[in-house]
Amino acid sequence: MEPEELVKLSSNENPHGPSPAAVDAASRAVADAHVYPTAAHADLTERLADEWDVDPEQVWVGPGADGALDYLSRATLDPGDRVLVPSPGFAYYGMSARYHHGSVAEYPLSKADGFAQTAEGVLDAYDGERIVYVTTPHNPTGSVLEREELRALLDGVDDRTLVVVDEAYGEYSDEPSAVELLDARDDLAVTRTFSKAYGLAGLRIGYAVVPESWADAYARVNTPFAANVAALAAASAALDDDDHVERSVESARWARAFLAAELDAPTFDTAANFVLADVGDGTAVAERAQQRGVIVRDTTSFGLPGCVRVSCGTESETRRAVEVLNDVLAEREAVTDASATGMGTEPGSGGGA
Ligand SMILES: *Cc1c(COP(=O)(O)O)cnc(C)c1O
Repeated sequence: MEPEELVKLSSNENPHGPSPAAVDAASRAVADAHVYPTAAHADLTERLADEWDVDPEQVWVGPGADGALDYLSRATLDPGDRVLVPSPGFAYYGMSARYHHGSVAEYPLSKADGFAQTAEGVLDAYDGERIVYVTTPHNPTGSVLEREELRALLDGVDDRTLVVVDEAYGEYSDEPSAVELLDARDDLAVTRTFSKAYGLAGLRIGYAVVPESWADAYARVNTPFAANVAALAAASAALDDDDHVERSVESARWARAFLAAELDAPTFDTAANFVLADVGDGTAVAERAQQRGVIVRDTTSFGLPGCVRVSCGTESETRRAVEVLNDVLAEREAVTDASATGMGTEPGSGGGA
């Protein structure tokens, strides 16, 4: 199969690509690539500070939101400190903590109640950890932590605990951003990225918005010049292209509704640009689908071996994915039925067990 025939819906990328304005800006920036970016990434930082109505010092730009997560680890974790992360959940929270000599505890999200996120669910597992991670919308399930639950969580943890709200998929959700709560708090940080709705995953650019009282810490924790000039220019231009983001979000809304309605497997409510589907055997279904040119994410490594996560594609990609996945599911069903009724074995030998 030619690579261009592959439908890749495994990494929650924007199937419409970056904004053309961002591509232009990045290309122009590359012409001056012999010059270092400004240490504070001032242009983008000021643009984002404007957007979120915070001080520029509160915006910590990094190489992807993953890079910003590292800055938060570096700013807060002493060796031996613990962080609390969702399970299933995004692997990098724990990795970043371990790179900083921290250790990791988990709070469960349960399939039985649709991976609902509540303050109580987190606080039941909470034991004074230095950082508590919340992902909303959550990866890989798509569930959200509502505003009132977030407030209850913030009120429920110790003063020494930082709550990090990861809004990598925030653009796709109707929930207001937790950045709005930063005014009144110094125990909250919010991470956002240009990798998903803005379609700039390959340029590696994201940021954290941190409390005002942390203003001077960025200089102590960031890798100098970590965000490159092309990424910085592209991100600024992408922020100015509202239409592109709106179209991308609308397209994802259509695709997730289509996947939920048409997939022949139970799916979970999602506020993100992907749908988690309960297919019975995630590894087998992802493998079979890939053989037919549709790549979806087997969520076994997230701790959900029964599921696959399907990113929202373009309309034709999404239709193709549903077609292929439903074929795969139907074949598996046929095999299961056949073995249950004894078909394909000795005549007359079936049915007894
Ligand atoms: C994609 C993603 C990120 C960040 O991605 P970057 O490309 O590093 O900006 C962060 N958190 C979650 C939950 C994600 O899915």
